[in-house]
Formats: sequence, structure tokens, C-alpha cells
Amino acid sequence: MHIPFFRPPIGDEEISAVTEVLRSGWLTTGPKTAQFEREFSAFLGGGVESVAVNSATAGLHLALEALGIGPGDAVIVPTLTFTATAEVVRYLGAEVVLADVDPDTQLLDLEDCRKRLTANCKAIMPVHFAGMPCDMTRILEFARAYGLKVVEDAAHALPAHRDGRMVGTFDSDACIFSFYANKTITTGEGGMLVTSSPAIAARARTMRTHGINRDAFDRFRKVGASWDYDIVAPGFKYNMTDIAAAIGVVQLSKARDFQAARQAAAERYIAKLSNLPLKLPRNAPPGSSHAWHLFPIRVSPEADITRDELIDALNKSGIGSSVHYRPLHRMKYWRERYPSKQGSFPVADDYFEQTLTLPLFPGILDAEIDQICNVIKTSLRK
Ligand SMILES: *Cc1c(COP(=O)(O)O)cnc(C)c1O
Repeated sequence: MHIPFFRPPIGDEEISAVTEVLRSGWLTTGPKTAQFEREFSAFLGGGVESVAVNSATAGLHLALEALGIGPGDAVIVPTLTFTATAEVVRYLGAEVVLADVDPDTQLLDLEDCRKRLTANCKAIMPVHFAGMPCDMTRILEFARAYGLKVVEDAAHALPAHRDGRMVGTFDSDACIFSFYANKTITTGEGGMLVTSSPAIAARARTMRTHGINRDAFDRFRKVGASWDYDIVAPGFKYNMTDIAAAIGVVQLSKARDFQAARQAAAERYIAKLSNLPLKLPRNAPPGSSHAWHLFPIRVSPEADITRDELIDALNKSGIGSSVHYRPLHRMKYWRERYPSKQGSFPVADDYFEQTLTLPLFPGILDAEIDQICNVIKTSLRK
């Protein structure tokens, strides 16, 4: 039985919701996007504004733009992340300061950040890696101590909470979620910028549609004024379509059930894979919850096989897997722009060499998890 790395959980409700928009006469940013934004803020418990965009990358870019990050500035980013977290810093002409991660959680290591701080550092971008929420109390204390803005990359972390608060409602400047096809909820492509700052929300809304001071639906709705708008800045084309938002509204209504299914799958993996030469991901600490976007395991150095051999064995059995991530300091562009000595990121290096990510999605069957675990057990006993 072939087991893919991911199967998107799309049902008839999403298909009907899209059909309804297609028949409605309004396809781009409009009433569905507004509804998705309202429901997203409510889902997080209120007290925040949500700005829907066509990708998390766009949301991260808009957040840093709204904070005024630009040439001469630097932003701290963990090296163990997807390139989007860092590339948006370069869009604005600012520099990236890569930092190492914690060996147990793979979350940004603040002690390492402290060592790498420069006078140019203006912001820090914690990543809730795999869906494990960062200790935002400590990150915000650190940021306050050094005068840094905080933009959370929550592409993996819907829904997750830490110390009783949902990711998205911490006192950072902005928090960005992704609705890419394989994220915890999807709109095909899409993202949400969440902030408690009306000024950041307003700037992001303007800049997501060319720097126009009014949105298209607003102009369309008000008879007699549709031609009249002004441009306040050279903005971007980052708005979400109502077609995507319609999928998002339905997916959001299932987000808690999806999380419960992911949680159950993660617990089944953990039960079946303990007592093997593997390091398994940790559950979230008490008072917190993990979004379980990813289930990365590490092949211990004591094991008889390597990570690559285990990936091969899974492949041969028709089981998809992936690696999250080759650290940025080992990618051509980042390596050449920010050369570092070998061993500058020992934790991320070790992690990368040992890690692989197993299939984890809401519809995965117990029998599929068992089959994957059996292949792993057999391979480790080689
Ligand atoms: C997926 C992802 C992004 C980018 O999300 P898009 O919606 O595809 O732009 C950013 N950061 C991390 C950590 C991601 O995994």
C-alpha cells in the first residue's frame, strides 16, 4: 500500500464553497475574504486583526515592511527554517542574522541570538517549528531588552497554544500563518497576517493591494465612486481571492478536528517508535498544545543505519517522507551571502544530518502509521 507524504483533507464542503463563489459574480478579495478574516480573528479568541494574503511569504514581507525594516537593518532568523522566513528580509534590503536552535525543541536559541546580536538588529523572527509553540514570554523579554520588533513565523502553528495563549495572540508585532497546500489548514495558496496593532494592520491592508487607499470591493460596492482612489505607496499584489477564502472558511471550521487527528497520529507514532535508536519529537509543555504540522524523527548516531538509508527503505516500501530542513547556512545563496565557519551552527547541523519527516495528516489511517512504524523497526534492526 502506497502512503504519500501528505493527502490534503478537502471535502465536499470546500468544493461547494468554491462553486458558490464562482457563481456569485465576485471572485477576488471581497465578502468571503472579509468573512474569513473575521472568523480567523474570532478563532484566535479576538483582540487581533487578521489580514488575508496570497501566501505566508507575502504576510511576512508585509509585516516587516509595516515595521519599517529596510537597508542598514538586520533581522534575526533561525537557520533551521524554510527560506521564506529569511528571504523577505532581503526583499527589503535588510540583512539576515542566522542563529542556531535549541537541541531539544528546534526553536530559536536565545543564548545564541544574544551572541550574534549587532547594533543593526531591529527585529527577530521566531519560527514555531513543526507546530511546537515557542516560549513567547522569553522571546518577548529578550526583544524588549534589546529593542527588537517581533514577527512570528507561525506557518506550522495553527492551532497551537502556549501558557494558555493561542499562537497569534502574543504581544508580538505580527504573527503570520500559512495556508499552503500541505499546511495544517489550506486555501491552496494563502496566508494570514495577524496583529493587535491597528497601524500595522492598516499598512498591511494598503500594501497588499498596490498601496491603494481603498479596497476593490469597497470601490465596487459604493455606487458612483468606483473610479476614485489614491495611491499612497508603491505596494504589492498580495491580496487573497474570495475563491481561496471560501476554502479557508470551511477549513478553519475543521481546524480543531484536524489538530485532534494530528495529535492522535503523533501519539500513535510516539507509542510505536519508543525504545528504538530514534529521537522523537516532544509534545508541547503543560498548559500548551502542539499543532503537529510535522512529525520529524531523528536517527540516533548509535543506530545501525543512517538517515539517508532509512529514507531509502521507506521509499522502497512506497512510503513518502521529507526532510525539514537543510539549514539556510547550507543553502547556496545564504552560504555565499553570509559565509560562516564550519561548526558555527552545531545544533542545526546535527539535527539536519539525522532528521527525516514522516507522513502526518488528518486522514492518515492507524494501519498506515503501523505500516510505517513496522518498516522503520525492521530497517533499524538490519
Ligand atoms: C510554508 C512556510 C512558509 C511560507 O508559506 P507560504 O504560504 O508558502 O508562503 C514560511 N515559513 C515556514 C516555516 C514555512 O514552512
